[in-house]
Amino acid sequence: MKESIFDQIERLEHEQVVLCNDKHTGLKAIIAIHDTTLGPALGGTRMWNYSSHEDAITDALRLSRGMTYKAAISGLNLGGGKAVIIGDPSTKSEELWRRYGKFVNSLNGKYITAEDVNTSTKDMEYIHMETKHVTGIPHYMGGSGDPSPFTAYGTFCGIKACANKRWGSDDLTGKKIMVQGVGHVGQYLVDHLCKAGAEVFICDINDTKLKETKVANKVTVVTPEEMFKTAVDIYAPCAMGETINDETIPQLTCEIIAGAANNQLKVEKTHGEAIKEKGILYAPDFLINAGGLMNVGAEAYNVYNKDKVTADVEGIYDRLHMIFNKAEAEGMTNQAAAIKMAEERIAAVGKINAVL
Ligand code: NAD
Repeated sequence: MKESIFDQIERLEHEQVVLCNDKHTGLKAIIAIHDTTLGPALGGTRMWNYSSHEDAITDALRLSRGMTYKAAISGLNLGGGKAVIIGDPSTKSEELWRRYGKFVNSLNGKYITAEDVNTSTKDMEYIHMETKHVTGIPHYMGGSGDPSPFTAYGTFCGIKACANKRWGSDDLTGKKIMVQGVGHVGQYLVDHLCKAGAEVFICDINDTKLKETKVANKVTVVTPEEMFKTAVDIYAPCAMGETINDETIPQLTCEIIAGAANNQLKVEKTHGEAIKEKGILYAPDFLINAGGLMNVGAEAYNVYNKDKVTADVEGIYDRLHMIFNKAEAEGMTNQAAAIKMAEERIAAVGKINAVL
């Protein structure tokens, strides 16, 4: 039997979950605020044609918890939140975003939004017409713009850390790398990998995205059916979550999994342990893909400086090594070690908050 929504909220320990409905625009959104111990909950808004409302709520709950860990392990003074809008992205409109902006505004800054899958800087501009609690707004409005290049660069730095750990060198020359999903983040990541001399394979369900990526780079396109059958050194998930699961793990031939997608492990403990047993080095998703959050976080706190953000993003390399060492020393998976480190910071800051 599927776990009820309230049981999920109880298990994942969310502070607040808001359901938004507007009959005029057809807006149906879920804003999930997981934990605000470290600061306001910052996380993007995803628009997706979910097969059920329950699936959308589950996605919002899992994504927002990931944001709590992402901010915590990255040393940011931010909590974890995320929103999903149920619907076909081709139906996006100014009215929909402005109505959604009013809902975000009603939370008085407890939740701050940004881009995610199927949302853009233009959408953030519309939201900004109704609330100041939005980041990733365009440069021409004084914002930090699309966070994807920073997410991609951080993921690239993380891939080099993984290569160093596995093969003793950051050098990606000739390494076969499969990038699943060549949207906002995936395309920038492919650019970095190609420049670094890797042999890049790409897979997407959207032909336009494949064409855009292929025109800009020398890559090999594979179909979703061929993807896990293609022998590669590194698998970089950059599409939707839960691609590491009971069905895909037996097919994996790679030595490293390191990509930008959120919630890559379908069941965190079981699948984290299964890939470890298979000898695959895994880069915890919320750690390696934190570059975009660092960028919008600086915007939210009005301390935006591109050089400083870039340096912070490059820190993902060392932070991953720290987690690999911690996981080895404590005999746990990399994902479990990263969660433990994030929870330790939240607990420590929580104690200070209690004193003040
Ligand atoms: P996007 O919507 O721009 O790109 C996603 C791409 O994945 C699209 O081209 C889509 O067609 C493709 N896709 C969807 N399902 C697929 C499948 N089954 N097989 C192959 N391709 C598939 O989104 P994005 O902003 O690039 O984000 C990608 C992932 O990275 C998401 O999981 C997102 O949550 C995560 N992420 C993004 C950022 C950011 O800065 N944008 C930050 C952190 C994490």
